[in-house]
Amino acid sequence: MRVSYSPGYVADIPDSHVFPMKKFSGLHAYLTQNGIVSESEVVEPSMVDISNLITAHTSRYANAVWTGALDRKEIRRMGLPWSKSLAIRSRLAVQGTINAALMALQEGLAGNLAGGTHHSMPDHGEGFCVYNDVAVAIKVLKQSMWVNKVLVIDCDVHQGNGTAYIFRNDPDVFTFSIHGEKNYPFKKPPSDLDIGLPDKTGDSEYHQTLIDALDHIFDQFTPDLVFYLGGIDPLETDHFGRLALTLKGLRERDRIVIETVTRRDLPLTLLLSGGYAPSVEETVIAHAQMYEVAKEMGF
Ligand SMILES: [Zn+2]
Repeated sequence: MRVSYSPGYVADIPDSHVFPMKKFSGLHAYLTQNGIVSESEVVEPSMVDISNLITAHTSRYANAVWTGALDRKEIRRMGLPWSKSLAIRSRLAVQGTINAALMALQEGLAGNLAGGTHHSMPDHGEGFCVYNDVAVAIKVLKQSMWVNKVLVIDCDVHQGNGTAYIFRNDPDVFTFSIHGEKNYPFKKPPSDLDIGLPDKTGDSEYHQTLIDALDHIFDQFTPDLVFYLGGIDPLETDHFGRLALTLKGLRERDRIVIETVTRRDLPLTLLLSGGYAPSVEETVIAHAQMYEVAKEMGF
């Protein structure tokens, strides 16, 4: 299984910041040290071209992130302090998702050890999301005729508002979000399918709801490519989540998604999205599970 990763994914932010920036290097180390991904399967992305970013973002916003021209209000909304390293990391991670999608088209499954920054909107970032990597990747791959129909399976505990908004009028992109109904974002632009779960939803209810939703989607939509945002914030121990999945239950969620997609012979791109477990180590272990599951399934 090939994955995108760059040491540049780790931007400089204060250690006291709530965002676990070190999870990216931690996951790379965990996967390679445990033989889940070999060093030769790690593909380092370059920075995405601004011309590609503006397929999903306004030219003003795409350039303002790069040049550091965001105002204080915009930075506060983004939730991450601006630095050149943050701007670089954001462009690296978007290209990492484009590359992972292309590798998935070639090999059936691939991943980016970052990405899934689904709250980012065309003209602003929010909720720790700078650029919307999935939206840019879909736009770029569609424009270059690599794919026509795309499915986004967003299992981060927060609704995928940016992706839903960007593709609101595109019948060839099916956006599915399963999330905590009471979680951020409080204004949720409709996805093609939204499932808002009540607080404290546990493993078995979550799994059955997910299985039924995927069956329903595949009954009506056959994509050329699938993105899986495997955010680990549905965990009961998450700082921001309101659901109550166990670590084992989260692993089963990953298995359900990966098995459902790949048994239909559809290319699948794995992305991290959010996760705020009590420690970086626990965050890494939870994010690693989808890669372990894919490895167990022969990828
Ligand atoms: Zn989240």
